[in-house]
Amino acid sequence: MDNLLQRVKEIDIRQVARDLGFDIVQSRRMVCPFHVEDSPSMVFYPPPQNEFHCFGCGKHGDVINLYADTCQIDFKTALEELGTRYIPSYDGVRNKKNRKIDTKSIYSRKPLEEKTYDFKPIYHEIYENFRQFCLTQPPTESARKAAEYLRGRGIDDWTIRYFKLFVIKNYGLTNDFLKTNYSIEDLKGCGIMNEKGNLVFFVHPIIIPYYQDGRINYLQGRSIGNPPEGASKYQFLSGVPRSIFNIDSIKKLRQSTDIYLTEGAFDCMTLVKNGMMAVSLGSAKIFKKEWIKYFKKYKVWVSFDNDSAGMKGADDLVEELINAGILAEKRDWNKGFKDINEYFGQI
Ligand SMILES: [Zn+2]
Repeated sequence: MDNLLQRVKEIDIRQVARDLGFDIVQSRRMVCPFHVEDSPSMVFYPPPQNEFHCFGCGKHGDVINLYADTCQIDFKTALEELGTRYIPSYDGVRNKKNRKIDTKSIYSRKPLEEKTYDFKPIYHEIYENFRQFCLTQPPTESARKAAEYLRGRGIDDWTIRYFKLFVIKNYGLTNDFLKTNYSIEDLKGCGIMNEKGNLVFFVHPIIIPYYQDGRINYLQGRSIGNPPEGASKYQFLSGVPRSIFNIDSIKKLRQSTDIYLTEGAFDCMTLVKNGMMAVSLGSAKIFKKEWIKYFKKYKVWVSFDNDSAGMKGADDLVEELINAGILAEKRDWNKGFKDINEYFGQI
């Protein structure tokens, strides 16, 4: 059956969770099996999205990931078992016994080892010298295209300077520069190089640096226009926990200041340029409890993209913030527009 994967992905994730023995509350939440908690932070996105996301530990995935990770089996085995169990026409592993999960033992397990990421001071230096190197390179065709693309998205020179955006003008030279100056271990450790030892921003020459306390602590790459097939528009660092874009700007504001929380970094930049206070998460699906502290005294307007993932993500985040005692509301002023940039481009 060629479309096994597709069909298994469509099995209602809440049904699978129930069959595994989990208690679903409020019809779409449950206590997360992947970290220790008392209140249910895991949220299900019903079909067609059919995914889960935990606002406590940040874990998310589809129905196969949920099954595989709670049963502690690999993806392929999970796929086979789900097919066998839920798809009548699939006769893969007929004899296999249905897996029964003892959810009590899952929840009473010792706290899972928190994978702590060790951010070394040299990583700031690598990111910052990477930027310096790119800035000093002579202009190239790809730099010209990048500038043109940014202008087309309403990102003007002021914005580029203010947010310190830069462009990889020559991939090969940049790769060599990094390898000549830093150990491959540190380059991989800071997420800028992949397993093969190459710069991760292969088709993402526009670089958005994330600053915290005045230092770059994260990088995000963007393709020029639509990415080549198989690649995504954005490239994030490999294996490095995300941080919040433009976080320094909201650290010392007055009580009750309006803060806009956007999905994309370009949306955030557009709002800032138009006089608003804004930060970006880089994705509608990633919010960590440890970030709550940055927003405590403000009024938060969640302004995600105007698509189903964005709208759903915004609803959940608003709920999450309100539960944490933060004044939060969804701001979908981009009604009829794809995102904030498009909205501002029209006025
Ligand atoms: Zn969790």
